[in-house]
Amino acid sequence: MSKKINIPKSIKVGGVNYKIEVMHLDKNDDGNEILGYCQYLDNVIQINEDTSPERQEQTLYHELVHAIFFETSNNEFQDNEKLVDSVGLMLHQIVKNNKLS
Ligand SMILES: [Zn+2]
Repeated sequence: MSKKINIPKSIKVGGVNYKIEVMHLDKNDDGNEILGYCQYLDNVIQINEDTSPERQEQTLYHELVHAIFFETSNNEFQDNEKLVDSVGLMLHQIVKNNKLS
Protein backbone atom coordinates (compact mmCIF):
# COMPACT_ATOMS: atom_id res chain seq x y z
CA MET A 1 0.00 0.00 0.00
CA SER A 2 1.45 3.35 -0.98
CA LYS A 3 1.89 5.97 1.68
CA LYS A 4 -0.87 8.54 1.75
CA ILE A 5 0.33 12.09 1.94
CA ASN A 6 -1.80 15.13 2.12
CA ILE A 7 -0.52 18.31 0.50
CA PRO A 8 -3.48 20.61 -0.08
CA LYS A 9 -3.50 23.37 -2.71
CA SER A 10 -3.90 26.03 -0.04
CA ILE A 11 -3.94 26.35 3.75
CA LYS A 12 -5.40 29.19 5.78
CA VAL A 13 -3.03 30.48 8.49
CA GLY A 14 -4.41 33.16 10.79
CA GLY A 15 -7.05 34.09 8.25
CA VAL A 16 -4.57 34.38 5.38
CA ASN A 17 -4.74 31.88 2.56
CA TYR A 18 -1.32 30.43 1.73
CA LYS A 19 -1.04 28.87 -1.72
CA ILE A 20 0.92 25.61 -1.61
CA GLU A 21 3.08 24.94 -4.68
CA VAL A 22 4.90 21.61 -5.10
CA MET A 23 7.52 22.41 -7.72
CA HIS A 24 11.15 22.16 -8.78
CA LEU A 25 13.36 24.38 -6.62
CA ASP A 26 16.89 25.28 -7.68
CA LYS A 27 19.80 24.86 -5.28
CA ASN A 28 20.74 27.97 -3.33
CA ASP A 29 23.80 30.11 -4.07
CA ASP A 30 25.93 27.83 -1.86
CA GLY A 31 24.90 24.77 -3.90
CA ASN A 32 22.71 23.34 -1.14
CA GLU A 33 19.40 21.61 -1.86
CA ILE A 34 16.33 23.63 -0.93
CA LEU A 35 13.46 21.69 0.66
CA GLY A 36 11.00 24.55 0.67
CA TYR A 37 10.31 28.24 1.03
CA CYS A 38 7.76 30.35 2.83
CA GLN A 39 7.15 33.65 1.04
CA TYR A 40 5.41 35.76 3.64
CA LEU A 41 4.40 38.73 1.52
CA ASP A 42 2.97 36.67 -1.35
CA ASN A 43 1.39 34.07 1.00
CA VAL A 44 3.04 31.24 -0.91
CA ILE A 45 4.68 28.08 0.40
CA GLN A 46 6.85 26.23 -2.10
CA ILE A 47 7.81 22.57 -1.61
CA ASN A 48 10.57 20.84 -3.58
CA GLU A 49 8.91 18.18 -5.74
CA ASP A 50 12.22 16.34 -6.16
CA THR A 51 12.07 15.02 -2.57
CA SER A 52 10.22 12.01 -1.18
CA PRO A 53 6.50 12.33 -0.33
CA GLU A 54 7.30 12.04 3.39
CA ARG A 55 9.95 14.77 3.08
CA GLN A 56 7.46 17.01 1.26
CA GLU A 57 4.93 16.59 4.06
CA GLN A 58 7.59 17.25 6.72
CA THR A 59 8.68 20.35 4.80
CA LEU A 60 5.10 21.58 4.62
CA TYR A 61 4.85 21.53 8.43
CA HIS A 62 8.19 23.34 8.70
CA GLU A 63 7.09 26.08 6.32
CA LEU A 64 3.73 26.35 8.08
CA VAL A 65 5.52 27.09 11.36
CA HIS A 66 7.39 29.91 9.59
CA ALA A 67 3.99 31.23 8.47
CA ILE A 68 2.49 30.87 11.96
CA PHE A 69 5.28 32.94 13.54
CA PHE A 70 4.96 35.57 10.78
CA GLU A 71 1.18 35.82 11.05
CA THR A 72 1.36 36.15 14.83
CA SER A 73 4.03 38.89 14.58
CA ASN A 74 6.59 36.73 16.34
CA ASN A 75 9.30 38.20 14.14
CA GLU A 76 12.06 37.21 16.53
CA PHE A 77 11.13 33.54 15.96
CA GLN A 78 10.13 33.47 12.29
CA ASP A 79 13.66 32.99 10.93
CA ASN A 80 14.96 30.87 13.82
CA GLU A 81 15.45 27.64 11.85
CA LYS A 82 16.23 25.52 14.92
CA LEU A 83 13.03 26.57 16.66
CA VAL A 84 10.93 26.34 13.49
CA ASP A 85 12.32 22.87 12.77
CA SER A 86 11.68 21.61 16.30
CA VAL A 87 8.07 22.80 16.39
CA GLY A 88 7.41 21.64 12.81
CA LEU A 89 8.81 18.15 13.37
CA MET A 90 6.89 17.65 16.60
CA LEU A 91 3.63 19.04 15.23
CA HIS A 92 3.92 16.76 12.21
CA GLN A 93 4.62 13.68 14.32
CA ILE A 94 1.87 14.41 16.85
CA VAL A 95 -0.77 15.00 14.16
CA LYS A 96 0.25 11.84 12.25
CA ASN A 97 0.75 9.42 15.15
CA ASN A 98 -2.37 10.42 17.01
CA LYS A 99 -4.59 10.40 13.92
CA LEU A 100 -5.56 14.03 14.42
CA SER A 101 -5.62 14.70 10.68
ZN1 LIG B 1 12.97 27.14 7.47
